[in-house]
Amino acid sequence: MGGGQEKLGPRASFTRHMVRDSIAKLLTRLNKEGKLSKLPGFENVTPPSDGEFKPDELPPRREDQSQDLPAGTKVCIVGAGISGLYAALILDHLEVSYDILEAADRPGGRILTHYFSTRKHDYYDIGAMRFPNVPPMERTYDLFKRTKVPLIDYHLSGKNTPKSYNGITVYPNEAGDFPTKGDPFRVSESNGGSVPDDRIDAISTVMEDAFRPLREALKEGDAESFKLFEKFDDLTVREYLSQEMGLDFHTIQWLEETDSATGLFDTAFTEAVMDSIAFDYSEEEEEEWKSVEGGRTSSRRPSLA
Ligand SMILES: Cc1cc2nc3c(=O)[nH]c(=O)nc-3n(C[C@H](O)[C@H](O)[C@H](O)COP(=O)(O)OP(=O)(O)OC[C@H]3O[C@@H](n4cnc5c(N)ncnc54)[C@H](O)[C@@H]3O)c2cc1C
Repeated sequence: MGGGQEKLGPRASFTRHMVRDSIAKLLTRLNKEGKLSKLPGFENVTPPSDGEFKPDELPPRREDQSQDLPAGTKVCIVGAGISGLYAALILDHLEVSYDILEAADRPGGRILTHYFSTRKHDYYDIGAMRFPNVPPMERTYDLFKRTKVPLIDYHLSGKNTPKSYNGITVYPNEAGDFPTKGDPFRVSESNGGSVPDDRIDAISTVMEDAFRPLREALKEGDAESFKLFEKFDDLTVREYLSQEMGLDFHTIQWLEETDSATGLFDTAFTEAVMDSIAFDYSEEEEEEWKSVEGGRTSSRRPSLA
């Protein structure tokens, strides 16, 4: 799957860097312990003069290593989420047999449609529900094409999509935009809320400021710039905003509720940066968002056998 020369997106580049980094550390350790030459395929590898293998300078793949699967190979797919099911689809195409092991009592993982009734459109996609047609989603759209699921337009904003908070409902303008200044939901201290007054107007740019250094680093995509990612890889979004940007608890809570969703600031900060890139193509042109007509992985479907 995937040609070796394919241009990788930021997420795949960082993942590849982390994998190579782990391999480099392992080879360095085995070399120090005098075990490197006992590793199959590494009998004739000359270690670097300082003994430290570098992620960008790993020994090349051996020419004699076949990339074909031995006849009769059976693949084990762990998890019947969309990734596992997509892998199964590809293996079907390649006529490779497989088993899928799923821990839950239904396939779909984080894709699940709950049907309130049998009426048309009376359902709710609890997990993934909207898909921008942008380069990082190329495989998702390939899957839509292969499975021929019907797609419908998904509108992220519009004059009929208000926001409600604190019992106050605010409607956007004709273009679907909400005011970026002021305190319409009365969350500031001077309006009886808990968010410091001087944070209210700045809030729309806080996440851009938070993401900027790592986004810039990702554009470079080399080992040096990935160090910044490694530096913050242990922090959640909440921890980053608190420790690195000095934001107080109430501002972070308000930001989480307006910018993302409850609980999403407990995910990794680096993951949030990558998500912000994956869903950010609007600078060039307005992206097209689609949804699967009728949902798909139903809470009423029979369990996996
Ligand atoms: C609330 C929510 C909203 C979202 N909205 C969107 C959206 O609008 N657009 C979008 O593109 N994405 C969205 N996503 C993300 C999207 O749903 C996921 O990226 C995608 O479904 C992940 O698929 P996956 O197969 O990689 O993982 P999962 O769906 O997590 O599947 C993993 C499967 O593996 C199983 N499993 C795990 N460990 C084991 C084990 N040891 N043994 C056996 N089985 C195991 C799990 O039970 C699960 O079924 C959303 C996610 C959530 C939670």
